[in-house]
Amino acid sequence: MSHIFRNLLTLFCLIGVNLACWAASPPPDQRPLIVIDPGHGGQDLGATGVTGVFEKDIVLEFSKALAKKLETMGTVRVALTRDHDIFLPLDERVRIARKQNAALFISIHGDTIAATGEVRGITIYTGDDRPSDAEAARVAEAENRADSGVLTGESKLGSSINDILGDLMLRETRAHAILLAQELASRIADLVQLNRNPVRAAGFRVLRAPDVPSILIEIGYLSSKEDLNLLMSPEWRDHTTSRMAAGIAEFLNRTRGVTSSEAHTAPISP
Ligand SMILES: [Zn+2]
Repeated sequence: MSHIFRNLLTLFCLIGVNLACWAASPPPDQRPLIVIDPGHGGQDLGATGVTGVFEKDIVLEFSKALAKKLETMGTVRVALTRDHDIFLPLDERVRIARKQNAALFISIHGDTIAATGEVRGITIYTGDDRPSDAEAARVAEAENRADSGVLTGESKLGSSINDILGDLMLRETRAHAILLAQELASRIADLVQLNRNPVRAAGFRVLRAPDVPSILIEIGYLSSKEDLNLLMSPEWRDHTTSRMAAGIAEFLNRTRGVTSSEAHTAPISP
Protein backbone atom coordinates (compact mmCIF):
# COMPACT_ATOMS: atom_id res chain seq x y z
CA MET A 1 0.00 0.00 0.00
CA SER A 2 2.72 2.38 1.01
CA HIS A 3 4.49 1.45 -2.21
CA ILE A 4 1.46 2.50 -4.31
CA PHE A 5 1.12 5.65 -2.25
CA ARG A 6 4.78 6.48 -2.81
CA ASN A 7 4.43 5.97 -6.57
CA LEU A 8 1.34 8.16 -6.68
CA LEU A 9 3.14 10.83 -4.69
CA THR A 10 6.07 10.72 -7.15
CA LEU A 11 3.66 11.00 -10.08
CA PHE A 12 1.90 14.03 -8.56
CA CYS A 13 5.26 15.62 -7.85
CA LEU A 14 6.33 15.14 -11.45
CA ILE A 15 3.06 16.60 -12.74
CA GLY A 16 3.47 19.45 -10.29
CA VAL A 17 7.02 20.14 -11.47
CA ASN A 18 5.90 20.02 -15.12
CA LEU A 19 3.04 22.41 -14.43
CA ALA A 20 5.41 24.69 -12.57
CA CYS A 21 7.83 24.56 -15.51
CA TRP A 22 5.00 25.22 -17.94
CA ALA A 23 3.78 28.13 -15.87
CA ALA A 24 7.30 29.52 -15.56
CA SER A 25 8.25 29.16 -19.25
CA PRO A 26 8.09 32.53 -21.04
CA PRO A 27 5.54 32.95 -23.84
CA PRO A 28 6.97 32.54 -27.36
CA ASP A 29 8.55 35.69 -28.75
CA GLN A 30 6.01 37.11 -31.19
CA ARG A 31 8.21 39.91 -32.48
CA PRO A 32 8.89 39.67 -36.24
CA LEU A 33 12.22 38.15 -37.26
CA ILE A 34 14.48 39.99 -39.66
CA VAL A 35 17.18 37.92 -41.34
CA ILE A 36 20.21 39.95 -42.41
CA ASP A 37 22.38 38.25 -45.02
CA PRO A 38 25.98 39.46 -45.40
CA GLY A 39 26.90 38.51 -48.97
CA HIS A 40 29.77 36.16 -49.93
CA GLY A 41 32.22 34.77 -47.35
CA GLY A 42 34.91 32.11 -47.13
CA GLN A 43 36.43 31.31 -50.52
CA ASP A 44 33.89 33.62 -52.16
CA LEU A 45 35.52 37.03 -51.68
CA GLY A 46 32.94 39.05 -53.63
CA ALA A 47 34.23 42.22 -55.27
CA THR A 48 37.69 43.61 -54.50
CA GLY A 49 37.97 47.30 -53.66
CA VAL A 50 40.48 49.72 -55.12
CA THR A 51 42.46 49.44 -51.87
CA GLY A 52 42.45 45.62 -51.97
CA VAL A 53 39.71 45.22 -49.36
CA PHE A 54 37.15 42.45 -49.98
CA GLU A 55 33.40 42.87 -50.29
CA LYS A 56 32.78 39.89 -47.98
CA ASP A 57 34.48 41.74 -45.08
CA ILE A 58 32.85 45.12 -45.67
CA VAL A 59 29.34 43.68 -45.89
CA LEU A 60 29.84 41.56 -42.76
CA GLU A 61 30.77 44.66 -40.73
CA PHE A 62 27.81 46.57 -42.11
CA SER A 63 25.38 43.67 -41.49
CA LYS A 64 26.51 43.30 -37.89
CA ALA A 65 26.03 47.03 -37.32
CA LEU A 66 22.56 46.93 -38.86
CA ALA A 67 21.61 43.87 -36.78
CA LYS A 68 22.74 45.64 -33.62
CA LYS A 69 20.71 48.74 -34.44
CA LEU A 70 17.60 46.67 -35.07
CA GLU A 71 18.07 44.65 -31.88
CA THR A 72 18.48 47.82 -29.83
CA MET A 73 15.05 48.98 -30.99
CA GLY A 74 13.55 46.03 -29.15
CA THR A 75 10.58 45.62 -31.48
CA VAL A 76 12.08 42.95 -33.74
CA ARG A 77 14.24 39.84 -33.51
CA VAL A 78 17.29 39.63 -35.73
CA ALA A 79 19.33 36.75 -37.16
CA LEU A 80 22.37 36.81 -39.44
CA THR A 81 22.83 34.14 -42.10
CA ARG A 82 26.54 34.28 -41.25
CA ASP A 83 28.33 36.13 -38.44
CA HIS A 84 31.86 35.19 -39.47
CA ASP A 85 33.91 34.43 -42.56
CA ILE A 86 32.31 31.27 -43.97
CA PHE A 87 31.01 30.27 -47.39
CA LEU A 88 27.23 29.90 -47.65
CA PRO A 89 25.48 28.80 -50.87
CA LEU A 90 22.90 31.30 -52.14
CA ASP A 91 19.96 28.93 -51.76
CA GLU A 92 21.01 28.12 -48.22
CA ARG A 93 20.69 31.79 -47.30
CA VAL A 94 17.10 31.78 -48.56
CA ARG A 95 16.38 28.52 -46.71
CA ILE A 96 17.63 30.01 -43.43
CA ALA A 97 15.08 32.83 -43.72
CA ARG A 98 12.19 30.57 -44.73
CA LYS A 99 12.89 27.94 -42.07
CA GLN A 100 12.61 30.56 -39.36
CA ASN A 101 9.49 32.21 -40.84
CA ALA A 102 11.33 35.48 -41.24
CA ALA A 103 9.24 38.62 -41.72
CA LEU A 104 11.94 40.16 -43.92
CA PHE A 105 15.16 39.05 -45.61
CA ILE A 106 17.78 41.70 -46.29
CA SER A 107 20.90 40.78 -48.24
CA ILE A 108 23.86 43.18 -48.01
CA HIS A 109 26.36 43.55 -50.88
CA GLY A 110 28.83 45.99 -52.39
CA ASP A 111 29.08 46.69 -56.10
CA THR A 112 31.98 47.37 -58.43
CA ILE A 113 32.01 48.71 -61.95
CA ALA A 114 34.65 49.25 -64.59
CA ALA A 115 32.73 52.04 -66.34
CA THR A 116 34.41 55.33 -67.11
CA GLY A 117 33.49 58.17 -64.80
CA GLU A 118 32.66 57.92 -61.14
CA VAL A 119 29.63 55.74 -60.41
CA ARG A 120 28.59 55.92 -56.79
CA GLY A 121 25.85 55.35 -54.28
CA ILE A 122 23.48 52.89 -52.66
CA THR A 123 21.05 50.84 -54.75
CA ILE A 124 18.20 48.74 -53.35
CA TYR A 125 17.09 45.76 -55.42
CA THR A 126 13.98 43.62 -55.36
CA GLY A 127 13.58 40.30 -57.12
CA ASP A 128 12.11 40.18 -60.61
CA ASP A 129 12.73 37.72 -63.43
CA ARG A 130 12.50 40.66 -65.83
CA PRO A 131 15.25 43.11 -64.86
CA SER A 132 14.29 46.78 -64.58
CA ASP A 133 17.32 47.77 -66.70
CA ALA A 134 20.58 46.47 -68.13
CA GLU A 135 22.59 47.63 -65.12
CA ALA A 136 20.33 45.69 -62.73
CA ALA A 137 20.71 42.59 -64.91
CA ARG A 138 24.50 42.97 -64.79
CA VAL A 139 24.53 43.22 -60.97
CA ALA A 140 22.24 40.20 -60.53
CA GLU A 141 24.35 38.17 -62.93
CA ALA A 142 27.51 39.09 -61.00
CA GLU A 143 25.99 38.32 -57.58
CA ASN A 144 24.47 35.04 -58.79
CA ARG A 145 27.96 33.87 -59.78
CA ALA A 146 28.81 33.42 -56.06
CA ASP A 147 27.99 29.72 -56.27
CA SER A 148 29.73 29.04 -59.57
CA GLY A 149 32.23 26.23 -59.33
CA VAL A 150 30.85 25.15 -55.97
CA LEU A 151 28.65 22.08 -55.69
CA THR A 152 25.64 23.29 -53.71
CA GLY A 153 23.12 20.57 -54.46
CA GLU A 154 19.83 20.81 -56.32
CA SER A 155 17.71 23.74 -55.24
CA LYS A 156 14.25 22.91 -53.97
CA LEU A 157 13.19 26.54 -54.26
CA GLY A 158 12.56 26.23 -57.98
CA SER A 159 9.87 23.61 -57.74
CA SER A 160 8.03 25.41 -54.94
CA ILE A 161 7.75 28.69 -56.82
CA ASN A 162 7.00 27.31 -60.25
CA ASP A 163 3.46 26.24 -59.48
CA ILE A 164 0.61 28.71 -59.76
CA LEU A 165 0.09 29.11 -56.03
CA GLY A 166 3.78 29.69 -55.43
CA ASP A 167 3.82 32.18 -58.29
CA LEU A 168 0.94 34.17 -56.82
CA MET A 169 2.54 34.13 -53.41
CA LEU A 170 5.84 35.28 -54.86
CA ARG A 171 4.12 38.17 -56.63
CA GLU A 172 2.45 39.33 -53.39
CA THR A 173 5.67 38.96 -51.46
CA ARG A 174 7.57 40.96 -54.05
CA ALA A 175 4.96 43.75 -53.90
CA HIS A 176 5.80 44.08 -50.19
CA ALA A 177 9.50 44.04 -50.97
CA ILE A 178 9.08 46.93 -53.45
CA LEU A 179 7.34 49.00 -50.76
CA LEU A 180 10.17 48.27 -48.34
CA ALA A 181 12.80 49.22 -50.93
CA GLN A 182 11.00 52.52 -51.65
CA GLU A 183 10.59 53.27 -47.95
CA LEU A 184 14.27 52.66 -47.25
CA ALA A 185 15.41 54.72 -50.23
CA SER A 186 13.31 57.68 -49.09
CA ARG A 187 14.53 57.28 -45.50
CA ILE A 188 18.22 57.53 -46.35
CA ALA A 189 18.02 59.89 -49.34
CA ASP A 190 19.07 63.00 -47.41
CA LEU A 191 21.88 61.22 -45.56
CA VAL A 192 23.70 59.15 -48.13
CA GLN A 193 24.51 59.21 -51.79
CA LEU A 194 21.97 57.13 -53.68
CA ASN A 195 22.44 55.66 -57.12
CA ARG A 196 20.77 57.56 -59.98
CA ASN A 197 17.94 55.00 -59.92
CA PRO A 198 18.05 53.83 -56.30
CA VAL A 199 15.29 51.19 -56.51
CA ARG A 200 15.74 48.54 -59.19
CA ALA A 201 14.78 44.92 -59.80
CA ALA A 202 16.45 41.84 -61.27
CA GLY A 203 16.58 38.07 -60.96
CA PHE A 204 18.78 37.68 -57.88
CA ARG A 205 18.86 34.11 -56.61
CA VAL A 206 18.71 35.22 -52.98
CA LEU A 207 15.49 37.15 -53.65
CA ARG A 208 13.37 34.12 -54.58
CA ALA A 209 11.65 33.18 -51.31
CA PRO A 210 7.93 33.04 -52.18
CA ASP A 211 6.92 33.76 -48.58
CA VAL A 212 9.53 36.20 -47.24
CA PRO A 213 9.71 39.78 -48.61
CA SER A 214 13.33 40.08 -49.67
CA ILE A 215 15.58 42.93 -50.79
CA LEU A 216 19.25 43.20 -51.67
CA ILE A 217 21.11 46.40 -50.82
CA GLU A 218 24.28 47.32 -52.68
CA ILE A 219 25.73 49.65 -50.04
CA GLY A 220 28.16 51.34 -52.43
CA TYR A 221 30.76 50.87 -55.14
CA LEU A 222 34.06 49.33 -54.13
CA SER A 223 35.42 50.70 -57.41
CA SER A 224 34.85 54.27 -56.15
CA LYS A 225 37.47 55.74 -53.79
CA GLU A 226 34.86 58.05 -52.29
CA ASP A 227 32.37 55.26 -51.67
CA LEU A 228 35.08 53.04 -50.27
CA ASN A 229 36.13 55.76 -47.80
CA LEU A 230 32.55 55.92 -46.58
CA LEU A 231 32.15 52.14 -46.44
CA MET A 232 35.24 51.93 -44.22
CA SER A 233 34.05 54.76 -41.94
CA PRO A 234 32.47 53.71 -38.61
CA GLU A 235 30.57 57.03 -38.45
CA TRP A 236 29.01 56.56 -41.89
CA ARG A 237 28.13 52.97 -41.01
CA ASP A 238 26.57 54.12 -37.76
CA HIS A 239 24.42 56.82 -39.38
CA THR A 240 23.36 54.70 -42.34
CA THR A 241 22.43 51.61 -40.31
CA SER A 242 20.50 53.80 -37.82
CA ARG A 243 18.41 55.27 -40.59
CA MET A 244 17.88 51.91 -42.28
CA ALA A 245 16.86 50.25 -39.00
CA ALA A 246 14.32 53.01 -38.39
CA GLY A 247 12.93 52.57 -41.91
CA ILE A 248 12.66 48.80 -41.53
CA ALA A 249 10.90 49.07 -38.15
CA GLU A 250 8.50 51.69 -39.51
CA PHE A 251 7.72 49.54 -42.54
CA LEU A 252 6.94 46.51 -40.37
CA ASN A 253 4.76 48.58 -38.08
CA ARG A 254 2.77 49.85 -40.98
CA THR A 255 2.37 46.66 -42.98
CA ARG A 256 2.12 43.84 -40.44
CA GLY A 257 -1.30 42.28 -40.74
CA VAL A 258 -1.98 44.35 -43.84
CA THR A 259 -2.82 42.34 -46.96
CA SER A 260 -0.70 43.01 -49.99
CA SER A 261 -3.56 44.65 -51.92
CA GLU A 262 -3.88 47.14 -49.04
CA ALA A 263 -0.12 47.44 -48.89
CA HIS A 264 -0.11 48.45 -52.59
CA THR A 265 -2.02 51.61 -51.77
CA ALA A 266 -0.43 52.33 -48.39
CA PRO A 267 1.26 55.74 -48.40
CA ILE A 268 5.03 55.85 -48.12
CA SER A 269 6.18 58.15 -45.39
CA PRO A 270 8.73 60.75 -46.44
ZN1 LIG B 1 28.08 40.84 -53.71
